[in-house]
Amino acid sequence: MTMLLPTALVTGGSRGIGKAIAHTLAREGFQVYLTYVSKPQEAEAVAEAIVSAGGAARAFCLNVGDAAAVADFFANEIKGKVELSVLVNNAGITKDGFLVRMKDDDFDAVIGINLRGAFVTLREAAKIMTKQRHGSIINISSVVGQMGNACQVNYSAAKAGLLGITKSAAKELAGRNITVNAVAPGFIETDMTAGLPDDVKKSYEEAIPMKRMGTASDVAEAVAFLASEKARYITGQVLAVNGGMYC
Ligand code: NAP
Repeated sequence: MTMLLPTALVTGGSRGIGKAIAHTLAREGFQVYLTYVSKPQEAEAVAEAIVSAGGAARAFCLNVGDAAAVADFFANEIKGKVELSVLVNNAGITKDGFLVRMKDDDFDAVIGINLRGAFVTLREAAKIMTKQRHGSIINISSVVGQMGNACQVNYSAAKAGLLGITKSAAKELAGRNITVNAVAPGFIETDMTAGLPDDVKKSYEEAIPMKRMGTASDVAEAVAFLASEKARYITGQVLAVNGGMYC
């Protein structure tokens, strides 16, 4: 029987938190499949850097907002080809705005990618992990899903919804030796937060007991723990990586 390579699938692995997760899981010995939607060069560069460092990685274009594309990806690239040890549902977008002015399209887009996209990816992964009888799924939620944030009703709804998915999927899949957990980062320095006005960033930093924004690596190390054997009896949990903000 051919041994399939233990693989970690990281959605949105081209930049920011996903890129750090891809590097960290490669360091831990997983082959990493990372996906992107708009930045092929960045994604290929992450895969090449992992391979240059002696690891295994491939980059794939995959819009998690397109359920049919997600199903095709699992059928063509995952099923029977690799052992799917880890799924990190990391892909996400923001479309912030005042509640009273928020357009339906901006609400639907954020729910469609951050919540529905994570659900369809988790569903396809669960079909495969159920047959394998093992796997770790980590959903990247947010402090904003736990405590809310002005001008982010769409994003906070998606990230809070992801916590519900995490807890329900954990109960459903526990009997198959599959863990499902969420990591809830606080405010992390990435492209997603780079555009925030300085006064907003300053107000966030003041609200963080550790008085600094987090790094992508801070989040990636928490994900690596939940993906490891050390976390084999932890499921349905939310690990906050937020510098001490109480939620
Ligand atoms: P980022 O730097 O903006 O990167 C977003 C990633 O998601 C990119 O790899 C992007 O791919 C990918 N992506 C976007 N839309 C996608 C789609 N439709 N299908 C597949 N991939 C898609 O964001 P980040 O700050 O690293 O955030 C990563 C995750 O952490 C998100 O879920 C975010 O909500 C969450 N989070 C972030 C913070 C923070 O403060 N930064 C805090 C809490 C939670 P391309 O490069 O190809 O565009």
